[in-house]
Amino acid sequence: MPTLVIKPLDTVLELGKRTYVPALATSICPGCDEAVVMDLRESYLSYPNTNVPTALSFVCGKCDTAWTKQVVVKLTVEPVE
Ligand SMILES: [Zn+2]
Repeated sequence: MPTLVIKPLDTVLELGKRTYVPALATSICPGCDEAVVMDLRESYLSYPNTNVPTALSFVCGKCDTAWTKQVVVKLTVEPVE
């Protein structure tokens, strides 16, 4: 039996006004098939809630098409043994 046990709870937690995430989000433009990359270390999520869908808004630099994709932000705590 480990000396520390973490039991995650799937509750909704509102994160900060500007939540930066160390991840790259890549989506294909529905207008011209260009790959558009959003660096979430620079493009912050505004008040995202954990465990429920959050919209990412993309704009294609090539043809100006705008679209959204859904992501889920999860926050985890793990024991270090
Ligand atoms: Zn495009």
